[in-house]
Amino acid sequence: MTRPILARIHASALTHNLAVLRARSGQAGLMAVVKANAYGHGLVAVAASLAGADAWAVLDVAAATRLRELGHRQPILLLEGAFSPDELPLCAELELAATVHSEQQIAWLRTARLSRPLQVFLKLNSGMNRLGFALAEARQRYAELAALPNVAGITLMTHFATADEPERRVDWQFARFQAATAGLDAPFTAANSAALFDYPATHGRWVRPGLVLYGASPFAGRSARELGLLPAMSLNSAIISVQQLQAGDAVGYGASFVAEQPLRVGTVACGYADGYPRHAPTGTPVLVDGVRTRLIGRVSMDMLAVDLEPVPQAGVGSAVELWGQALPIDEVARAAGTISYELMCALAPRVPLRID
Ligand SMILES: *Cc1c(COP(=O)(O)O)cnc(C)c1O
Repeated sequence: MTRPILARIHASALTHNLAVLRARSGQAGLMAVVKANAYGHGLVAVAASLAGADAWAVLDVAAATRLRELGHRQPILLLEGAFSPDELPLCAELELAATVHSEQQIAWLRTARLSRPLQVFLKLNSGMNRLGFALAEARQRYAELAALPNVAGITLMTHFATADEPERRVDWQFARFQAATAGLDAPFTAANSAALFDYPATHGRWVRPGLVLYGASPFAGRSARELGLLPAMSLNSAIISVQQLQAGDAVGYGASFVAEQPLRVGTVACGYADGYPRHAPTGTPVLVDGVRTRLIGRVSMDMLAVDLEPVPQAGVGSAVELWGQALPIDEVARAAGTISYELMCALAPRVPLRID
């Protein structure tokens, strides 16, 4: 018997989510964001399920190369562009589009010897203050790029900091972005998952959803189900031991959980080395045999403990869902004080992925 942990990737959920997003994207092309190994879901399987996407967005040339090797012909955007000048010839070979966010990247483009000119995405900093040129420089940088023989076309790009927050919205960034780029004859891309749902005016030439493709919600106040999305990943394991505690007995490292009355405890084959958050507190929801119960005590490297009182029939071998179709990953993330993005991306390579 192998260790019972498994991440199931639901191909039909991915195609369902793609259709939901397409219906909301209007005329914009749908650029599927598959960075971080497709948010932990596995790039190869996700790309196969999302083959109907109009374009891909990845972090690095290695992921882009993988997509080309798999036969995907759509445009591929490098979200942070080249990290060194020697990447540019490969970008040209593979027909990748490169984000340009720095003077250094413009200098590399000026001197590179390329087999064909590149599509570039001129990244403008409209308030995120992470990557991109100041809005006041937009026209000058556009003109510099437009003059380069290595540039085949320019798309204007920005990224929102608060699109998921109903009070703060995106207007404070989007209005500035529009003012700074008014009159430039170029398409634009701005919308992440949250903006795709709530701000059609920001859709532009390409929408760039990530999280919602995988069936989680970027909004604190709206569930994925309310958005019409289906979870693309279920993290499953099983009970491998049962302990009977008496009042006063503790569980796990630090003996941080102490039973107030007799308690049956199940030990689950899943720990922080699998990507389960170590800081998830007692009370974080877990499903055992389909019944909702709670994590108790500290998460260990390879195991965690659950309260079996709500599931008296459960024993060694009982099925456990850490998150997935019956337990939204957003709920687990909230209980653990983080976001579903982080849980997905943290899934450890040692956890087998099974596509179904
Ligand atoms: C990650 C990323 C996205 C996707 O964000 P989601 O919130 O997952 O939709 C879009 N654009 C850029 C530049 C990104 O880095």
